[in-house]
Amino acid sequence: MEISIRRQQPRHLKPHPENESALGFGDIYTDHIFKMDHFDGSWRNPRIEPFGPLILSPAAMVLHYSQTIFEGLKCYRHPDGRLALFRPRENFKRFNSSAARMAIPLLDEEFALRALKELLKIDGGWTPSLPGSSLYIRPSIIATEEHLGVRPAREYLFFIMLGPVGPYYPEGFAPVRIYVEDSYSRAAPGGLGNVKAGASYASSLLATEMASRKGYTQLLWLDSVSHKFVEEVGSMNMFFVIDETVLTAPLTGTILPGITRASVLTVARDLGLKAEERALSIDEVLEAQKNGRLKECFGSGTAAVISPVGRLCYRDEVFQIGDGGIGEITRKLYDELVGIQYGLIPDERGWVEILD
Ligand SMILES: *Cc1c(COP(=O)(O)O)cnc(C)c1O
Repeated sequence: MEISIRRQQPRHLKPHPENESALGFGDIYTDHIFKMDHFDGSWRNPRIEPFGPLILSPAAMVLHYSQTIFEGLKCYRHPDGRLALFRPRENFKRFNSSAARMAIPLLDEEFALRALKELLKIDGGWTPSLPGSSLYIRPSIIATEEHLGVRPAREYLFFIMLGPVGPYYPEGFAPVRIYVEDSYSRAAPGGLGNVKAGASYASSLLATEMASRKGYTQLLWLDSVSHKFVEEVGSMNMFFVIDETVLTAPLTGTILPGITRASVLTVARDLGLKAEERALSIDEVLEAQKNGRLKECFGSGTAAVISPVGRLCYRDEVFQIGDGGIGEITRKLYDELVGIQYGLIPDERGWVEILD
């Protein structure tokens, strides 16, 4: 399919951020957006056009029944100035598995990646070069059909937007405090836990806000059935280092299959560490903490890559992880992954796609 391109008028091009070190997350967007419609049973009209507000009916189904999915990945600037994507095919593969679960028509993954690359040819220059910063890429599909009966929509919009972002945590690579949530749930078996759906985030807001008021950056969700087993954190998968083993919860359907998570497991094994996916109860974690066997704890996700955890709060008791600082394994994994993404160390696994 031919992608039609309508460029923003030069006099309407936005100024790029002057101070890259002041970049936040999700406030600035580039000049163009990729869009494609789905109606009469197929995806049509792929196009790149000036970024701007959408026109939607107030009865657009996404606004009422949340039939929408998204992805999140980044474009990185290498020291030689070239732009790179990290495992982008994995994102579009996951986008399609999210689509399938949400009764949204599937995309041609190769075409979606090509569309992204076309958009980056136009707006890739927005990618900042300050270490830790990047151009965030947000593909999304929304149900646009004007209809209020409950059923999958017959019309959709797929779009990809871009925006320069700074490091996810303004404090930088520093340990965060995490609140272990033992009454609210994120995902039930058979639900949306393994889908990147806005709906999952909507249901997490209240509990996260309550934890934030108590001074915690994120929530660690427990399984929704027994409230015993650790699942994941906010928008990150969760890892524990007990003795010498790197542990994370298995992908049983209630956990988002993070691409960073998969990369951490691979890199950990390549570094000669033992890495296991297995059910881990909060009691086991805290028991290990008391015995001095819980060495490190960190979250993994595209936004922060690796986020060290310094403290866990469970039922009003606070547990310090290690010495409360950044663990040795956490730092090694961070340096390795960030090094590959930013082109500072060789990419031996074919994870990086350089754009031309
Ligand atoms: C996106 C996401 C992650 C992390 O996935 P990555 O592919 O590593 O960015 C983890 N948990 C949730 C709930 C997410 O939405």
